[in-house]
Amino acid sequence: MSTDLTSPFPTAVDQILEIEKSRQIPLYAKRDIALVRGEGNYLFDSDGRKYLDAMSNYGIAVLGHAHPRYSAALTEQLTTLTTGHQSFGNDVRAAFLQELDTIVPESIRRSFVSNSGTEGIEAALKFARVFTGKTSIVALRRAYHGRTFGALSATADKKYREPFEPLPIPSTHVAFNDIEAVRAAVDDTTAAIILEPIQGEGGIHPTDVEFLQAIRELATERGIVLIADEIQSGFRTGDPFVSVAMGVVPDIIVTAKALANGFPIGLTLVTEAISASLPGGAHGSTFGGNPLAMRAGYETLRILREDGLYENAKALGAQIVERIEALQSPKVRAVRGRGFMLGIELKAKATPVLRGLQENGVLALPAGNLVIRLLPPMTWEQQQVDELIETLDKVLRDA
Ligand code: PMP
Repeated sequence: MSTDLTSPFPTAVDQILEIEKSRQIPLYAKRDIALVRGEGNYLFDSDGRKYLDAMSNYGIAVLGHAHPRYSAALTEQLTTLTTGHQSFGNDVRAAFLQELDTIVPESIRRSFVSNSGTEGIEAALKFARVFTGKTSIVALRRAYHGRTFGALSATADKKYREPFEPLPIPSTHVAFNDIEAVRAAVDDTTAAIILEPIQGEGGIHPTDVEFLQAIRELATERGIVLIADEIQSGFRTGDPFVSVAMGVVPDIIVTAKALANGFPIGLTLVTEAISASLPGGAHGSTFGGNPLAMRAGYETLRILREDGLYENAKALGAQIVERIEALQSPKVRAVRGRGFMLGIELKAKATPVLRGLQENGVLALPAGNLVIRLLPPMTWEQQQVDELIETLDKVLRDA
């Protein structure tokens, strides 16, 4: 147990969890450790125990923790300028927007910056309504798009929806990878089709290329806005955007999570035509586009590009899949995903295996009941892959 008597913060895990549990609305199923420090690809708990980070805090810390170049840049920005409303220009914001040109297709370079994934989706849905003059949306079964009222209308799971119904946007959720189901669901009221190119919370399910391309054609034919939610799939698969890598340019891409390495940010990228349909002042955000967030995003994108981290995630991600398959564990049903967005579907509940991993010093995530989700920092090297496979092998044998 940590005995740092000089710390102004509670130090014992029981104390930390008791304070949180007795004061917070109990919305999260809390794991029984408290994370207090991070260094590179590892996290440390309040007892000083070290964990391999295979989740980057739900897919956000894509450069790992306390990355020297990123931390130095943010520290400098903290002592230069942190706040700055979008009604004023800002040098760092301009640099961030220019850096986006290196990864965003030319046809969707108009952008709106916010502070979270769900806000990015909210903006996309509002913009699609204005652009088309229509009200309803078509989404996919198992979809997760966020928790604010608009985004929640697009999210599929009853557990998230039911307590808050009626939801404001009429929505239909159709079978995954089934173009006829999408075709049957669109009608004259459809403003947008929204999808995750790889479903994250739903269990790491990649869309088929043909499905995505057929949706693109359908949306164009019917004047419907195609929204790709790349909040979780952005960057970490080894391509900035999975939809684009699959040969499809959506009308709107929303991203967040990894974009600023964990600093709160949301980004909605739209076509020139959608941008032109929006009246000035129709949408906005006090915090969105602030210089600190912009510096975080700028630095993250530069490091991903300059340090070859896209290629790294592609190569090591493929290796992880191969090596999990080679374990030939009777407990594994399938391994899915791309780059550093991976799911291991088990034949029984994932919780005991997740617990076993944690007890053996590896932090991973669930996605639904059966899937172990791996969202490692893109800074992982061979050593971290070896550690993961070794521990997974042991835990799958013991579980
Ligand atoms: N869409 C997807 C695909 C996500 O994975 C998430 C977050 N898990 C969201 C939207 C919502 O993002 P946030 O939690 O930042 O609001």
